[in-house]
Amino acid sequence: MTFSIAILGSTGSIGKSALKALKKDKKFKVKLLTTNKNANKIFKQAIQFKVKNVIITNEIKYKNYKSLFEKNNIKLYLGLHNIKKILRRKISYTINAISGIEGLEPSLNIIPYTENFLIANKESIICGWKFIHYKLKKYNTKFIPIDSEHFSIWKLIQDEPKKEIKKVILTASGGPFLNKSLKDIRNISPKKALNHPTWKMGKKISIDSSNMMNKVFELIEAKKIFDLSVKNISILIHPTSYIHAIVIFKNNLIKILAHEANMIIPISNALNINYISDQKKTEFNLKKLNNMKFIKPNYKKFPILSIINKIPKNDTYFETILITLNDSLVEKYLKGEINYISIQKNLLNLIESTYLKKYYKLKPKNIYDIKKMITKTNNYLNLNLKYYNE
Ligand code: NDP
Ligand code: MG
Repeated sequence: MTFSIAILGSTGSIGKSALKALKKDKKFKVKLLTTNKNANKIFKQAIQFKVKNVIITNEIKYKNYKSLFEKNNIKLYLGLHNIKKILRRKISYTINAISGIEGLEPSLNIIPYTENFLIANKESIICGWKFIHYKLKKYNTKFIPIDSEHFSIWKLIQDEPKKEIKKVILTASGGPFLNKSLKDIRNISPKKALNHPTWKMGKKISIDSSNMMNKVFELIEAKKIFDLSVKNISILIHPTSYIHAIVIFKNNLIKILAHEANMIIPISNALNINYISDQKKTEFNLKKLNNMKFIKPNYKKFPILSIINKIPKNDTYFETILITLNDSLVEKYLKGEINYISIQKNLLNLIESTYLKKYYKLKPKNIYDIKKMITKTNNYLNLNLKYYNE
């Protein structure tokens, strides 16, 4: 039996891990790969995996590379709306590994054309879970989260009735600045902020991990996927990143899931690939088990965690505004336009502004409403952006 698969965002950190897992299993036929602008990389991937369809979203790269792809019998398309044209029947699996809110529209476009939908793109879940969930049901598509914590929870609660779950604990490494004060990292360089102690990831999520924004996102992601309330989810810092989730049940049983900090593990398990690592490291790690340490996060050190108390019970524009402010602030930091502390200071300040707060009671009705709110939020951010020195 063979399985067909599409990887959206194949040139990124998750996309590359997914291809690495697929290399170990001959059952998979890659039908589609996509990138934003990394034409060279995706060309090599398409040749290596004999892929006939590639989507690129950057117009200049599309024009420059079209003939190279055609000469090699690969169809190159401009824009993710072409998904519908390429996949006319359901394929077996899709992985959405695009970063940022741009991942939402392709998620909605591809659900009708895939039997199993694996999402790493947490931004689309956070802003558009209602629309994703509706389409999953409508097209009878199975959903598997592959963000490591959510994959772990998903595994731990299989065959367990939801009403039996008492508490879900998400673990966090604490990032590269766990033992530094906010004062020390005010003007820290992107190079240092990107240097995550336990995971190798894309730039955006590495910055989000350094100030715990990623854990706020993951808490909202878990709330939506598993239909939990905020009070039933908590966060513990676990610097070795060996345990990814803990689920406490009402019957007093506690389930814990451990694996090495390597995204190939949740990805290959979600694809039922028997992935045998070349590295001895993925074997049972007694030293790490004996040195497990869990610490309650300090909100003074990670002020961004205070956002958890502001999460509305039901879906509103809050999530879209939060994701948009953060996406843009991180981008500005990586471009050198603002310093490190200005990411969280602007975020915590703007999220409380009267102008944005009035939208926390309103709901987006469709993806166009979400898109309009992204533009509004970005305009507001650009007019009100501050540079903080303390
Ligand atoms: P990367 O930045 O490494 O890769 C992102 C991918 O998406 C690249 O292929 C990129 O193309 C493509 N892309 C970026 N912007 C656009 C756009 N506007 N339109 C179309 N394609 C685009 O990200 P990661 O792999 O680190 O993360 C991907 C997602 O998975 C994120 O949502 C992240 O939060 C989540 N995640 C990541 C984990 C990790 O370990 N990396 C762990 C858990 C979740 P190009 O190469 O041209 O830039
Ligand atoms: Mg995660």
